[in-house]
Amino acid sequence: MVSDHQLIRSKNVCVIGAGPSGLVAARELRKEGHSVVVFEQNHDVGGQWLYSPNVEDEDPLVKNNIVKVHSSIYESLRLTSPREIMGFTDFPFVVKRNRDMRRFPGHKELWLYLKDFSEWFGLREMIRFKTRVEYVGMLDYGEFGKDLKWVVRSKPNYKADEKVVEEVFDAVVVATGHYSHPRLPSIKGMDAWKRKQMHSHIYRTPQPFRDEVVVVVGNSLSGQDISMELVEMAKEVHLSSKSLDITEGLSKVISKHHKLHLRPQIESLVEDGRVTFVDGSWVIADTILYCTGYSYSFPFLDTKGIVVVDDDRVGPLYEHTFPPSLAPSLSFVGIPRKLIGFPFFESQAKWIAQLLSGKTTLPSWDDMMQSIKDFYHSRDAAGLPKQNTHDIASFEYCDKYGDHIGFPHLEEWRKGLCLSALVNADANLESYRDSWDDHRLLQEAHQSPHFTQHKSQAFSTL
Ligand SMILES: Cc1cc2nc3c(=O)[nH]c(=O)nc-3n(C[C@H](O)[C@H](O)[C@H](O)COP(=O)(O)OP(=O)(O)OC[C@H]3O[C@@H](n4cnc5c(N)ncnc54)[C@H](O)[C@@H]3O)c2cc1C
Repeated sequence: MVSDHQLIRSKNVCVIGAGPSGLVAARELRKEGHSVVVFEQNHDVGGQWLYSPNVEDEDPLVKNNIVKVHSSIYESLRLTSPREIMGFTDFPFVVKRNRDMRRFPGHKELWLYLKDFSEWFGLREMIRFKTRVEYVGMLDYGEFGKDLKWVVRSKPNYKADEKVVEEVFDAVVVATGHYSHPRLPSIKGMDAWKRKQMHSHIYRTPQPFRDEVVVVVGNSLSGQDISMELVEMAKEVHLSSKSLDITEGLSKVISKHHKLHLRPQIESLVEDGRVTFVDGSWVIADTILYCTGYSYSFPFLDTKGIVVVDDDRVGPLYEHTFPPSLAPSLSFVGIPRKLIGFPFFESQAKWIAQLLSGKTTLPSWDDMMQSIKDFYHSRDAAGLPKQNTHDIASFEYCDKYGDHIGFPHLEEWRKGLCLSALVNADANLESYRDSWDDHRLLQEAHQSPHFTQHKSQAFSTL
């Protein structure tokens, strides 16, 4: 029987997005007794992992900032982290027969995992598919933390003639991801350069670049992966990098492929097709492919200026999750980068659910603001640019974050496998997904409760 106390604490919550963050948020909120509606603009769950082969309608540089295709995943993409570390704490990403059984599987396998997760926990019934949230704003300005309500306007996707539906919620959880809006460099001559310029957001396969001279800008994960597959198809690939101090792995790849050249940053683009680099060298290129990352963008969100995105710093956010003036009724899941994503999103979701139910409370507004200021200060002092505000790269941070609600610390094997994959990728870029030497840790992982907990429930490990 539900007590009055519990009824009062159950909130009507809107979750935006049915990617990994939104799915786990929906599960945790419902578990805590809230009533949940998930709005998902796409036809299925999975977020980035729901591959979209058709990108014809997308502006190649998304100059107007209106993104039509959410997923930036390319056809050949395989995970950069081993599957064992990816799973939510109670739902291991196990190997299944007749599926992609590799440790670093292709993108479809992770999508299937997310579908399995949704079905196992009965999440689909909470999701309104093909429904895009167009506006989220405050119903009125209540007192801090009290009775704040949110107007949510949504519309069946891409149907101009459909009516906007307006609803009111006690709380909104934003889980819309941040790998869809291209972040572009500013290069002299970029607007006048008449040949093909595109962002990796719409790169899918190497075939369209057959016999072309391609300049790939940016040598992070996508830039490296895409260059390696383009080199098999293109006439020449020039990988332009901020720093020529590259990893051993990339260096090996470059010395192996005579068509792949490392270049410094671009100096300017010239109308006749020339791309000149800061060291004075130049090439005539057919295509420039920007693998320069993504920006945070919440085009639907109106917080009256309380939450702003400034050079990829979304703030102010206490612990990358709660805007102090609007918490806990507005929250964000999935903002942090450079961490083991899924378990972290899960801990965020649990914290939000428990705050909304009143099981736990946040520090005072002053204390949250002070913590944010201290954090910004520590980043500045470490010389980290604002655009890297949400790059965590710390297991310790994830563990401390979980302590707010007694969420289990990352298992030692998870940390170890994550690090060994990073080290292996640095040294063996072309082969790290197929050959490794972390067998002992792998065995430890498979014998841990994370993997053994589901043995009797139709899961199968190798
Ligand atoms: C090329 C590439 C490679 C990657 N490789 C890895 C990897 O190997 N390992 C890893 O852990 N991570 C990787 N990632 C990161 C990946 O984004 C995360 O794993 C994960 O998908 C983030 O989940 P999310 O739910 O926060 O966001 P998303 O997966 O982006 O999901 C957000 C959801 O919100 C929906 N949405 C957005 N706006 C609206 C709206 N207005 N109304 C309704 N719905 C909306 C979207 O349709 C989408 O379904 C990669 C990303 C990219 C782009």
